[in-house]
Amino acid sequence: AAKGDGRGIHRFYSSEMHADAEDRRRLEQDLRHALACDGLHLAYQPIVSLRTDQITGYEALLRWIHPDRGPISPALFIPIAEDSGMISQIGEWVIHTACRDAAQWDEGIRVAVNVSPTQFANPGFPSTVMNALAASQLAPERLELEITESVFLNDDDGTDAMFARLKALGVRLALDDFGTGYSSLGYLKKAPFDKIKIDQSFVRGAAIKGSRNSAIIKAIVSLAEALGMDTTAEGAETQDELALIRQLGCSHVQGYIYGRPMPFADVTASHNKHGVTVLMDGFKSSRPDR
Ligand code: C2E
Ligand code: MG
Ligand code: MG
Ligand code: MG
Repeated sequence: AAKGDGRGIHRFYSSEMHADAEDRRRLEQDLRHALACDGLHLAYQPIVSLRTDQITGYEALLRWIHPDRGPISPALFIPIAEDSGMISQIGEWVIHTACRDAAQWDEGIRVAVNVSPTQFANPGFPSTVMNALAASQLAPERLELEITESVFLNDDDGTDAMFARLKALGVRLALDDFGTGYSSLGYLKKAPFDKIKIDQSFVRGAAIKGSRNSAIIKAIVSLAEALGMDTTAEGAETQDELALIRQLGCSHVQGYIYGRPMPFADVTASHNKHGVTVLMDGFKSSRPDR
C-alpha cells in the first residue's frame, strides 16, 4: 500500500525538504522585517471561569499577516524564530505589548502570555518580565506566564531557580498543553504552577461516547485540585464538549465555543453566543474567581 510505504514517504519528504529550508530562510528574513516594522500583532482569546461563567482573562496569541502570503500560523513561525535567535526579541515585544494592553482592561481581567523554552532558559528573562510590569503598571498577579513541559527537558538547578525568580515577581504560572509532552508527575510536585492547561487533544471529541479522553481529563482535574491548581480545558468547540468539561470539574475553559482570538479593539465588545454576557459593564463588575 502506497500510504503505508515508509520509504515512499521518506523519498517524498526528502524532496520537499530542500524547498522547506529555502522557504524557512525566506520566512526568517520576512519575519525579521515584520518585527522591525510593526508587522506583528496580538490577538486575544477569552478564558472563562466555569464557576462564574465570567471571563477571567485573555490569552495573548501572536499574529503575523505576511504581505504576500496572508496570515501565517505561529505554529509555523515561532519555531523559525526560536532557531534563528529572534525569539528573545519577539518574546520581549509580546510581553511588553500584552502588559500594556491588559493595563487598559478592568482590574479583574488577566492576560496570559506564552513563553518559549528558549526565553525561559535565558537568565535575563525575569528582568524582561519586571520591566514590562513596571512600564505598564500592570499588577503582577494579572500576568500569567504559560510554559510548556518542554522546559523540563533540561531540568536542572537553573530551571528551579527560574521558577523561583518568576514566582518572586508575583506573576502566575500556567503549564500549557499538558499531557502532550514529557509528562512527568515529578515536576508537578516541585514547580509552582497556578494552573494546568489541559491540551486540546484531550478536550476535542471528549464528549463522544466511550472516549477515553474524559477519563484522562477527570484524572488531571483531581490531580490539579489536590495540588491547589486551576485547570483550563483548551479547545472546546461544541456544547457537548463544554457540558462534559463542566461536569468533569475543570475550573476554566478556553475555546471557540466561547470565543476566538480577537483584536485588542474587540476585546471589550460583546461576543455572547453561549450564555456569557460580555459587555463593557460586565467587565467592570467582573472579578477574578480566585
Ligand atoms: P497555545 O499556547 O496552546 O494556544 C492555543 C491555540 O489553540 C491557539 O492557536 C488558539 O487559537 C487555538 N485554539 C483555541 N481554542 C481553539 C478551539 O476551540 N479550536 C481550535 N481548533 N483551536 C483553538 P494559535 O494562535 O494558532 O497558536 C498556536 C501556538 O503558537 C500556541 O499554542 C503557542 O504554543 C504558540 N504561540 C502563539 N503565540 C505565541 C507567543 O506570543 N509566543 C510563543 N512563544 N508562542 C506563541
Ligand atoms: Mg498558550
Ligand atoms: Mg495550549
Ligand atoms: Mg499549543
